[in-house]
Amino acid sequence: MWKDLGLNLEKHDVLLNALAKGYGDLFMTQKNRPAGMGYFDFVISEVHGLRIKELVDRKKAGKKIIGAFCLYVPEELVYAADATMVGLCGGADFSIPDAETVLPRNICPLVKSFFGFKVGATCPYFNSCDMVVGETTCDAKKKVYEVLADYTPTYVMEIPHKVDTEQSKALWLSEIKLFKQQMETLTGNVIEKDSLKEAIRLINEKKKAMKRVSDTRKASPTPISGLDALLVNQVSFYDDVNRFTLKTNELADELEKRNADGVGVGDPSKPRLMFSGCPMAIPNWKLHSIIESTGVPVVAEESCIGSRYFTDLVEPKGDSMDSLLEAIWDRYHNISCACFTPNDDRVTKVVDMAREYNASGVVYNVLQYCHTYNIEAIKVDKALKAAGVPMLKVETDYGSEDVEQIRTRVEAFTEMLRPV
Ligand code: SF4
Ligand code: SF4
Repeated sequence: MWKDLGLNLEKHDVLLNALAKGYGDLFMTQKNRPAGMGYFDFVISEVHGLRIKELVDRKKAGKKIIGAFCLYVPEELVYAADATMVGLCGGADFSIPDAETVLPRNICPLVKSFFGFKVGATCPYFNSCDMVVGETTCDAKKKVYEVLADYTPTYVMEIPHKVDTEQSKALWLSEIKLFKQQMETLTGNVIEKDSLKEAIRLINEKKKAMKRVSDTRKASPTPISGLDALLVNQVSFYDDVNRFTLKTNELADELEKRNADGVGVGDPSKPRLMFSGCPMAIPNWKLHSIIESTGVPVVAEESCIGSRYFTDLVEPKGDSMDSLLEAIWDRYHNISCACFTPNDDRVTKVVDMAREYNASGVVYNVLQYCHTYNIEAIKVDKALKAAGVPMLKVETDYGSEDVEQIRTRVEAFTEMLRPV
């Protein structure tokens, strides 16, 4: 199977061994984990096995696989065309040397990581894709998609950068319609009203299950570690949607019961931290593992691998195709990525979320060279200060050189925080 996908087998073995070791060290050593995490452990153990086989089988049956890197790609239209969407990894240091054979070094590690997986032929998800869909969000991504197009069929959606103007609405709605056409052409399937309604229901159910898990983390003690909750969010991007929803609802049942019984994983006398900022694509577990190694739980993620993905649902107001597409527009234009200007909505959301999850403080993650999240930290910090919530900004990459330095900063930060 790996050969057919055109993988570099030697490098792929090195990647799998590193992943297994890192996962075992970080996840399997945690105490008092919810039993429902067993499913997610299984998914990771089969990340380059069973799931890839499922995708390959779909391809053999004539179905298409679509890769994406950003929340702005409307997955409802992918599923409505009977294709499957996978979020492509960009969270590993492993693939960066391959990327740097082509790209400049001083760009965001997330972008280098996903590009390196393609250039180095080490990601079976990337190599399963019939098309990858990019977006004009940050400069790094939109320019790299131009280069990526030399390696794989790439389609780019134009995202307006000013929100809530008539022009931006018209542009984004027309992009959604073009993407619908693109999916129809690629798959040969016309997207009908009923299939789109069913796809909207499918993705809404998935997001509702994720929100249920997230809501349980408002309790003290938190019923699940931040590391495990992060993993659930990361797995959501490539697992089979129906199975993921079922297993995430089962996990939510267990966590709700834990809360009713007062069972948790953390020490309730410790402060609680919220995470905010750049996304942590799988297998980026760096900041969560550092923070939780100090005994302080992470209770929420204001991030694309977190609340920004599952908070809002597509909610059509009518039954026509136009109403369905408008509802998709409405949901997606609400994503408050730092690439937008002005982006006050995100600043308000961060403060509201810190209150909702009883966070004692916020750790703000900036991936190196990510200007949008880095500069937006100024406004977020100011708003959090006004709300009485301290913030620690951490700028980092995927390397391990700064781990101890970050741990020391997190310890000093949490020492001055009160438990909520
Ligand atoms: S941070 Fe912005 S550009 Fe990155 S995945 Fe999220 S929405 Fe897309
Ligand atoms: S983390 Fe920042 S620089 Fe990197 S892809 Fe996302 S928005 Fe772009």
